[in-house]
Amino acid sequence: MQARSDLSRRQGRKIAFVPTMGFLHEGHLSLMKAGHKRADEVLVSIFVNPTQFAPGEDLEAYPRDFDRDCRLCEKEGVSVIFSPDVKELYPDGFQTYVTLEKLPHHLCGISRPTHFRGVATVVSKLFNIVKPHVAIFGEKDFQQLQVIRRMVKDMNFDIEIVGAPIVREADGLAMSSRNTYLKPEHRISALSLCNSLKKAKEMADAGISDAKTIIDATIKQISGYPETAIDYVAVCDPETLEDMKIIDRPAVMALAVKVGKTRLIDNMMLKT
Ligand code: AMP
Repeated sequence: MQARSDLSRRQGRKIAFVPTMGFLHEGHLSLMKAGHKRADEVLVSIFVNPTQFAPGEDLEAYPRDFDRDCRLCEKEGVSVIFSPDVKELYPDGFQTYVTLEKLPHHLCGISRPTHFRGVATVVSKLFNIVKPHVAIFGEKDFQQLQVIRRMVKDMNFDIEIVGAPIVREADGLAMSSRNTYLKPEHRISALSLCNSLKKAKEMADAGISDAKTIIDATIKQISGYPETAIDYVAVCDPETLEDMKIIDRPAVMALAVKVGKTRLIDNMMLKT
């Protein structure tokens, strides 16, 4: 992979990179499209990264369909799919991890304390292997995007990070490989995430600036649906991810909710 990227670079070709865990959907494809706009070729990685899953999470169950993913990448004009084995990225003796001091202590990082260490580590490794000029990440994983932006700044990676908007199903549900776990009867509960975010945005637009008032309304709305268990609902500073009490500057609402056994996340800017 490094030799392939060296060749592209020698030929003066700009490389865009889209890291994924596979089981591709329109959200992933939108990142590839964004890559084509910014570079001469788009490279995709498909790797279900074990270090970002904690014991008891869905590593083994995570949906996989490599052949279908290859067809979709081909259709999007992807020039290389990098899909290493776990042992290739984490050989015996592996012991170097990338950790951030503050960003992982908010939102998803509270219930998944080792998750962002796994993300930052694998993305650093992939950056060193794929050697892109630009890398595209979805705003769907808002905290992940901020972690990567911060890591790239802090570690002087010579890579431009681009955030791409959340792609949603027709009914508003944020696309996710994990949506495949949802049973039909869970759909209406799953939709409470995006519907409550829209409501929260309407409240902020109507001039309600007290974050707690909006958070309480959101919790009440989601809890009204069957089989929902809220992990968090937060209004925070989009850069530091620190909680905000008063929405008087840019603010994002982020939430994580278990619907049945499926953990879903979504977010929306309340004020830009
Ligand atoms: P994943 O395969 O879930 O690790 O996601 C790979 C990349 O796709 C990440 O940068 C995600 O933020 C992005 N992504 C996943 N779902 C969506 C979506 N619905 N809209 C936009 N980007 C997404």
